[in-house]
Amino acid sequence: MGSRSGRLSVQVRGELIETVARDALRCMPRECCGVLAGTARRIDHAWSCRNVAEHEARFEIDPLDLLSTHRRAERMDLAIVGFYHSHVDASPIPSELDRSAPLWPDLPPFLHLVHSPRHGSRLYDTRGRRWTPVEMDVI
Ligand SMILES: [Zn+2]
Repeated sequence: MGSRSGRLSVQVRGELIETVARDALRCMPRECCGVLAGTARRIDHAWSCRNVAEHEARFEIDPLDLLSTHRRAERMDLAIVGFYHSHVDASPIPSELDRSAPLWPDLPPFLHLVHSPRHGSRLYDTRGRRWTPVEMDVI
């Protein structure tokens, strides 16, 4: 992760943003969710996982899917560097629920992409539960 003009930035492959957008449409009216795989400097892939949350406007990544994505990343010499989920009706700004979720670690994977079909994608650094915006350097 680098810093340009004082803001955090990370390289993101353009195809993965399209993958997340397709996943969001496919899962509607439910939220989609998945993991982001890459290296310290770059996010290469978005891998869709099953959303096992009971409530429609929430997400909870299937633990078995999470495990298999870790194995998949390991085989490709990559790491899980973050997560993503969609907001069906809202903008891609973390909700109160997102901010209060106990999941967010201070160590990797601390990146989180939120996608809204109407408003696009935004990337955040969730360390300290601050959800600091991260600039996406799309490659
Ligand atoms: Zn959310």
